[in-house]
Amino acid sequence: MAVSKQQAASSIRRAYAAGLRHFGENYVQEAVAKMDELADLDIEWHFIGGIQSNKTRIIAERFQWVHTVDRARIAERLNDQRPAHAPRLDTFIQVNLANEPQKSGVSIDELPELARFVSRLPRLTLRGLMFIPTVAESESRSARAFARLRELRDVLTRSGIALDSLSMGMSADFEVAIEEGATCVRIGSALFGPRAIRAR
Ligand SMILES: *Cc1c(COP(=O)(O)O)cnc(C)c1O
Repeated sequence: MAVSKQQAASSIRRAYAAGLRHFGENYVQEAVAKMDELADLDIEWHFIGGIQSNKTRIIAERFQWVHTVDRARIAERLNDQRPAHAPRLDTFIQVNLANEPQKSGVSIDELPELARFVSRLPRLTLRGLMFIPTVAESESRSARAFARLRELRDVLTRSGIALDSLSMGMSADFEVAIEEGATCVRIGSALFGPRAIRAR
């Protein structure tokens, strides 16, 4: 997936012309403006930013994928607000592997319960788990974290919650993420170059 936050619609159009179809955005307003501008393209939009409750409606209405569900209340709102005519929203649960207090993501302890809850929501399809490393980690530490996420996915699948996807790996570490089983790598700067300014 191409992470197009802070990139102009014209850059997305060029990436699309080069064959990319999946684009990830972190900020709802910024994303919706680009979606409207690029409505003639057949893009699958992924929401990969932190989710506040007042943003769930736009996410449910405008995105095909969401990667950052980390609590039941947000999942329930997305489910209730997903339009009846739209296909089910493809969903990842974001996991806080190291249990860092300020980081978003569900703890490993609470993951099974949340996964069970999300898997039963009729308007969402739980596809897998997602992970964002804190800072640039060494390659071996990233590899261990990615392997851990894969194991958690496999444990859930064995417990009856079948998950087919792992969203992990960014520009700095996508090779090792793929080696450890990533099905979706989220690539921003390696495709578009450095991001100039923070959007807001
Ligand atoms: C910005 C962002 C990326 C892309 O980061 P790069 O290092 O530019 O590839 C991937 N995932 C998330 C959640 C992001 O916010």
